[in-house]
Amino acid sequence: MIAENLQTIRSRIDAAAKRAGRSPNDITLLAVSKLQPAQLIRDAYAAGQRDFGENYAQELRDKAAELADLKDLRWHAIGPLQTNKAKYVAKAAYAFHALDRLDVAEELSKKRTQLLRCFVEVNVAGEASKSGIEPDALPDFLAKIRKLPNLEAVGLMSLPPLSEDPRPYFRKLKKLAEAEGLKELSMGTTADFEAAIEEGATIVRVGTAIFGERQKR
Ligand SMILES: *Cc1c(COP(=O)(O)O)cnc(C)c1O
Repeated sequence: MIAENLQTIRSRIDAAAKRAGRSPNDITLLAVSKLQPAQLIRDAYAAGQRDFGENYAQELRDKAAELADLKDLRWHAIGPLQTNKAKYVAKAAYAFHALDRLDVAEELSKKRTQLLRCFVEVNVAGEASKSGIEPDALPDFLAKIRKLPNLEAVGLMSLPPLSEDPRPYFRKLKKLAEAEGLKELSMGTTADFEAAIEEGATIVRVGTAIFGERQKR
């Protein structure tokens, strides 16, 4: 079932890329496996999937240990992170998609021994309750991140409000990334990954459409 789901998503990615005149090779499918059993990750890996996204630092730590035999699997930490758990991400992750705090960045930089690809999370809709850097604060924040060893700011990430058309927010994120010379855009989920690709996403984060409903936390 996972293999079929992956194939369906990949062909939808290809079609969206073609519509936008883009190469499907420029788009990475990140399989969001948070709150899903390790066996489903093995199934997806067996079907050729290599990039997996986890939200919770301890769950990432545990799954990375349990699946350590899958050598070329890449873990992406995509959830909000606190300094006291940054060590787990520093140890296991290939990329971090939710960078919006300088203290967390400093902790990651300290604990990391090789380059960590980072996406700065932007609060594109200015929602009071949302994590992410305000667009106005982005240049300053990036300047500080770029001074830290072992971190590379590669792009921007956002999770627009679920209740609205995401396209204006995807466009805004793309403009912000271009203004900062950042090439990568982590945007789009099960609900809107095709629109995200049409608006320039280089990495889409899809969970439910691959693995089905998640367990409760
Ligand atoms: C859970 C999650 C996703 C995946 O959501 P689906 O609706 O299951 O595709 C993507 N991005 C982030 C930041 C998430 O927390």
